[in-house]
Amino acid sequence: MDEEAIARVAALLRNADSASVLTGAGVSTASGIPSFRGEDGIWGNEFDPQDFHRRRFERDPAGFWSDRLDLHDAMRPEGVEPNAAHRALADLEATGVITQNTDGLHQAAGSDRVVELHGNAERVACEDCGRRSDATDARQRAADGDLPPTCDCGGVLKPDVVLFGEQLPPKSLHDARDLAERSDAFLAVGSSLTVDPAASLPATAARDGSLVVVNLDETRADDRANVVLRADVTDALPAIAERVHEA
Ligand code: ZN
Repeated sequence: MDEEAIARVAALLRNADSASVLTGAGVSTASGIPSFRGEDGIWGNEFDPQDFHRRRFERDPAGFWSDRLDLHDAMRPEGVEPNAAHRALADLEATGVITQNTDGLHQAAGSDRVVELHGNAERVACEDCGRRSDATDARQRAADGDLPPTCDCGGVLKPDVVLFGEQLPPKSLHDARDLAERSDAFLAVGSSLTVDPAASLPATAARDGSLVVVNLDETRADDRANVVLRADVTDALPAIAERVHEA
């Protein structure tokens, strides 16, 4: 661990009036959740992205839900819990945590200001009345053969995640940009920062604030970062949090 870099990041955070964090798949994989993309990614190996496209959901909601249950089993192994990176981020009490992940683990770790760019797989939303609820009951009903699961109003329930062919939620996008713009310190954690908006948020933040990148591999934002930590997120973030609280 690069102690000098950790100390620099801690100093940036201590001196910031507003500090925000963007998290990507690397924060979830540390909890044993497989990633969607990449060599071992779920897409293209075990699952076909076309089965989870908006058009498929509209055309064949029952089949979509059936495949969705299999996807959930793969994405959510038994006993998944927040890891040391989630806990350290909750401990740092950032102004906001923007996440590309859909597992709800930041909230489970205690972060209370979470902007979900791609929704949350642990919720469902009614296509007709828009009501959101916990996904456990809908999944159970779907597993029992009630396909597709429906709302009390009769509308079809959809996992509250952004499907292929859908736009990102405008409010989340707005909140994420707002956080990036007013951050004095912005941490990009566990993301390769290649897909928008994750690709553009660090650049926005770096215009008037400091940018820190924590990722095992190179990212698109390394060039403009004030500090780059080439480290495991479950090592680096607890070290940063500890250093922030030491002062
Ligand atoms: Zn409804």
